Amino acid sequence: MVARTRRIRAAKRLGQHFLIDPVAAGRIVEAARVGANDLVVEIGPGRGALTGPLLAVASRVVGIELDPALCALLQQACGHRGDLSVLNCDVLKVNFPELVQSEGFARAVLVGNLPYQVTGAVVEQILDARAVLTRAVLTVQREVARRMTALPGGKDYGVLSIAVQLRTRPEWLFDLPPEHFSPVPRVHSSALRLDFTSEPPVRVEDERVFFRVVRTAFQQRRKMLKNTLSSLVGGQQDVLARVCSGAGVDPLLRPEAISMEQFEQICRGLAAYSQDRA
Ligand code: SAM
Repeated sequence: MVARTRRIRAAKRLGQHFLIDPVAAGRIVEAARVGANDLVVEIGPGRGALTGPLLAVASRVVGIELDPALCALLQQACGHRGDLSVLNCDVLKVNFPELVQSEGFARAVLVGNLPYQVTGAVVEQILDARAVLTRAVLTVQREVARRMTALPGGKDYGVLSIAVQLRTRPEWLFDLPPEHFSPVPRVHSSALRLDFTSEPPVRVEDERVFFRVVRTAFQQRRKMLKNTLSSLVGGQQDVLARVCSGAGVDPLLRPEAISMEQFEQICRGLAAYSQDRA
């Protein structure tokens, strides 16, 4: 009884909702466009709903699973295969470039039906590891998928949209209703593919500055730029008005109306202002 309670708690803590729809599993694996020479890194393989179909198409699969009981289960089911290894660890502690290199590959395809409680951190980790990733097919909470793929002009557009779209070409694939999982989650999920682009859609001069400006603007997303960004120029409204005018942006707009290109133009205007002052 105690063991069962512990197991249920662990399952909840680790966001364990297992995919039980084989058609959806097949669609996810197909969307990953895995070739016979590819290394696949799977985040949270769980009971192996995606691992089996991935092994059928990949050269090699490395699963990263935090739950030791599920690692043992996977080893039992497929451990005899030389093309699968299961690492029992927290994905957030994994160094993807080192892992891919240690497997003897230059790049990997990433697949994961992500545990919802760490989705944000994992997405950040994946974006940082983009140099060793070809593409990622992820299943995430539907709202998160909307934010990742949102274009300017709507309530879903924000820092996450910009972070993802600056480094990848995201494509929403399909929705997965709660009944596709066991136990049934309270939320809807969506699958999406991120293609890691070698050429970013916008050439950002200084990513640190770019994201400082974007974050400052979205910290109070209901406020106009003239109010949120003025802190970056010591409150001088005339300077901000000049920067915005140079960027072709109306300072009365809210951040959700501003494209990545326009944010970059604002950054360049701010850099020119700092240079003039120096
Ligand atoms: N891929 C399986 C499927 O589609 O049925 C399982 C998906 S389930 C939503 C998430 C999986 O991630 C679980 O197996 C869970 O134990 C594992 N997990 C949770 N947190 C993790 C972490 N920090 N690192 C690695 N795996 C984790």
